[in-house]
Amino acid sequence: MEKRGDWTLAETNIEQQRAAHYAFLISLTPEFIGRLSWSRAQIEAHRTRAFRELLRHVQARSPWHARRVAHINPSAATPADIVHLPTMNKSDLMENWDEIVTVPGASRREAEQALRNMTDQFYIWGDNVLLASGGTGGRPGLFVYDWSGLATAWAGMARGFIRSLAPLAKRGVEVPQQVRIASIAAEKSAHGSYVMSRIFSNPLNPTHRLSAWRSAEELIPELNAIQPHFLGCYPSLIPSLVAATNARELEIEPRIVYFGAEHLPDASRQLARETWPRADILTCWSTSEGGGTFPCPRGDGFHVCEDLVIIEPVDRAGAPVAPGQRSSGIYLTNLFNKALPIIRYFIDDIFELDDQPCACGSSYQKVRQVHGRSLEMFHYGAIAVHPATLELAVLEQPRILEYQIRQTPRGAHLVYRSKGEVDAARLSSKMRQALLSYGLQRPEITFEKIALLERTAAGKLKHYLPLTH
Ligand SMILES: [Zn+2]
Repeated sequence: MEKRGDWTLAETNIEQQRAAHYAFLISLTPEFIGRLSWSRAQIEAHRTRAFRELLRHVQARSPWHARRVAHINPSAATPADIVHLPTMNKSDLMENWDEIVTVPGASRREAEQALRNMTDQFYIWGDNVLLASGGTGGRPGLFVYDWSGLATAWAGMARGFIRSLAPLAKRGVEVPQQVRIASIAAEKSAHGSYVMSRIFSNPLNPTHRLSAWRSAEELIPELNAIQPHFLGCYPSLIPSLVAATNARELEIEPRIVYFGAEHLPDASRQLARETWPRADILTCWSTSEGGGTFPCPRGDGFHVCEDLVIIEPVDRAGAPVAPGQRSSGIYLTNLFNKALPIIRYFIDDIFELDDQPCACGSSYQKVRQVHGRSLEMFHYGAIAVHPATLELAVLEQPRILEYQIRQTPRGAHLVYRSKGEVDAARLSSKMRQALLSYGLQRPEITFEKIALLERTAAGKLKHYLPLTH
């Protein structure tokens, strides 16, 4: 009996902690919305202040970083000096975790233990929050956010929805109190998207969470019942939801359809626009290491949260890549989360910054597209093919609902789930053409129709599987 009493008490405390954290997030909102209209000079001044503060913080509190930034004077440094700092990767983070973390008494061992025992509760060491990410490097990454850092990561991204929600407010729907949110995402996990949407769900108007693991047939009646104003889901679910809408099984009229966590191909975006013409189709890129961007209200790309992070697109040798060009990866510096400082951390996402100012009027750097990850490239000897090229042939097949493109020694094997027959001759010919255009001789394309495609622990569908996997 006593044990049960403790459990109830603990649950109540966690709920109170979440509610307080949500209230804190809401208190940050006016400031973050205000920042959307900042000029370039305001953004730069803020970045300089935040960069200096980060340097002072790690010099005082993070022994591993302190050694690496000892040659920089925080009082005189500007973000341009970042190129003089060493870079780091996930192995550096995980191997030196105890010397990087600044939460008193925190250790990687304890974090790993907590992760194994966690059910639906992610606070650790007081008000800090633990997140884990699979990533493409194989080894999971462990991240700790402080109370303010986690709310900042969420507010930095969520401010991109404000303009799209304004028409609802005009119709008398109170924002955010009455906005119905449905999110099709990961089931209980320590994945950032799950943890943050769990904590930052309005206790009086909770987010309806649906599992990306379930079939479209199960999701559709629930979506019809919820009638969400805001629908969040993975791009890989678009073909299933579109097919259901065309068959009049799914009848919803969302104001915002937000695609997160996976790369959004242009063809999928177009399909979503045609299916929900009255909705804003928004997307952005984010990472467990520090959030990173917010959706452009025009629905065409997204903007770097330059007040919160420094993103440096780089080539294979680590040299800067100019806007308008594709990078091999980025270095990310998190300016706001003090619990586990991240400075020039390599992520293999292929960034293409826009070389023009955005038509929405924002002064924040526009990202034209993130073209998947470098580690997903298919290598055939000296020939490197980005599988997105093969994907174009798949995306134009309206009956394919889900797919995975697997590299084979001489070509690719397409595994898919479909409603009805696909045009195999066209599909095969287009995929072959794509590989031929890279100079691959006599490429071999094979197909396999299956009933169910496996998703990752985070609920995502891996669209590309290089041979190295
Ligand atoms: Zn914009």
